[in-house]
Amino acid sequence: MSDIFNNELFEAFASASDNVYIYVCDMEIDVSRWSKASVEYFGLEGEYIKDAANVWAEHVHPEDLDVYMEDISSVFSGAKRYHDCQYRARNRLGEYVWVECKGSVIRDSDGNPKIFAGLMTRIDGQSKYDTLTGLLTTPELRHFDFSVLSGTALLIGLDGFRKVVGNYGYNTADEILIEFAQRIKELCEPEWKVFRFSGDEFMVVAFGADKAKMTAYYENLCRETETIELKNKQRINLSASAGGALFPQDASSREELINKLEHSLEHAKNNQRGTLVFFSEEIARKHERGLALREDLKQCIRQSYKGFELYFQPFVMSGTNTITGCECLLRWKGEKVRDSYPMEFIKVLEDYGDIREVGYWVMEQAIRQQVSWRDTYGELRVSFNVSYQQFLDETFESRLAACAEKYGVNPEYIIIELTESCQVDNPEELSATFDRLRARGFKIALDDFGTAYASLEMLKCLHVDYIKIEHSFVRELSEPGHDIDYVIIDNLLEMCKRLGYDSIVEGVENDKVAAIVGEMNATLLQGYYYSRPVCRTDFEKLLDADRGAA
Ligand code: C2E
Ligand code: CA
Repeated sequence: MSDIFNNELFEAFASASDNVYIYVCDMEIDVSRWSKASVEYFGLEGEYIKDAANVWAEHVHPEDLDVYMEDISSVFSGAKRYHDCQYRARNRLGEYVWVECKGSVIRDSDGNPKIFAGLMTRIDGQSKYDTLTGLLTTPELRHFDFSVLSGTALLIGLDGFRKVVGNYGYNTADEILIEFAQRIKELCEPEWKVFRFSGDEFMVVAFGADKAKMTAYYENLCRETETIELKNKQRINLSASAGGALFPQDASSREELINKLEHSLEHAKNNQRGTLVFFSEEIARKHERGLALREDLKQCIRQSYKGFELYFQPFVMSGTNTITGCECLLRWKGEKVRDSYPMEFIKVLEDYGDIREVGYWVMEQAIRQQVSWRDTYGELRVSFNVSYQQFLDETFESRLAACAEKYGVNPEYIIIELTESCQVDNPEELSATFDRLRARGFKIALDDFGTAYASLEMLKCLHVDYIKIEHSFVRELSEPGHDIDYVIIDNLLEMCKRLGYDSIVEGVENDKVAAIVGEMNATLLQGYYYSRPVCRTDFEKLLDADRGAA
């Protein structure tokens, strides 16, 4: 019997309250222990249950099954940290009761799920109002029949709220949510209903209102909440995105309405942050494509990364133009989806948490490649991209070190490019990781420098080796009217030099730009002018030509 089942803590928690039920699952053997109270109340077969996820799914109300399954599978896949959802579950008398189910997965040092533990709280009769904001909770939506009512619903989400929590802490974040919820409610007409949908998302159901009315409502809300003042007089700037859908035209049931609102909000957040986007066929198509991509990507990952490949784009030395290394860029051709660009499929990998797994594959290929080129071409500087999400994985550092050791690479020649530095919400932790990696000899580059608004802020707290200057400043450098880009790059390079960082200028597309940046103080140059990203054999041809010419 697994140790996790035989402890007094389990017993203590199990008897803590009459309407709280706890469970713990040893995921290696897929056996769970459920508290006695839960066995009795829900009429389970016994305290120990094999394959509990499926056994429990039979207790979940058929209408809530999708919500439950989606949440639980995103926790198991690593896309979501905590299982947290409300649904109806059948008790031993055959009645459905509302429960709030929360839990989390503990992983082993290889990132594999080890233990899943959590608790379920019966919330019947208590859950009508959200305790923090006083708004209605989503189960209350069950009272509305959207096939006969008519109006418009909005799902409103605060932008970058994770960062607000990181910057100001939970108490301030709660105060902001309360303030924001109050404004949402104040601006509504009396017969409208407002729900706290999830942490930082709110749903307004506006009976009898059309698109124009809700657009005006949303604009008004944005104006009113652009800056809010906290009790301590601190002023905070907020931005909110929203998705909208009409009932019954777009959706005639609660589930359909929620789905369409979620897709529209997701679309707004990804493409037009800080705006209201109404549901459309295009959004439905994009969502469908996202699902197809996800399915295909999963399938390829399962088949030992079938269809994934690294392309290589040279770094040349400023001044001599000799190839000194390359950036590894991921490419993928699915079984069904054959035309997906990196920006698209990498976003899907990130959204569903699969980027970690694929990222380790990229890491291993890049390191293996660097070593295999050593005898023929000498030590090349090989970089690969790592998103912030990947750095958050506790095993990143040990896996990198193990991989470097396995192939015997010299870490001095491995550059890790941090993409999307704007999303960093815990710079101190990241800084400590960087320091440890640099102490092991690895090089760190801040990617896309200059575009993310937090670039300079990041530079203050992170110690890195390279700054990569974003290609949008560089590409049109030789065109008339781009003097400002020149001034920006020139000054960024000067700043790098004074701070002791090396620099990589990306986006050198033609000889004119190459001539301009060649005169500047950059360390390495990269861009279509030297070569597009190419497959391994083509990159080796570039190296052969380069070495032959030397
Ligand atoms: P990035 O890191 O900024 O990569 C540079 C992108 O600029 C590449 O696009 C490259 O093809 C493109 N590029 C290079 N030279 C030029 C140029 O002269 N002009 C223009 N217009 N573009 C140029 P790509 O390969 O489509 O990659 C897109 C993004 O996908 C990358 O942007 C990176 O953020 C991400 N990515 C690629 N591979 C990986 C990976 O293995 N892991 C992660 N996490 N992200 C990756
Ligand atoms: Ca990059």
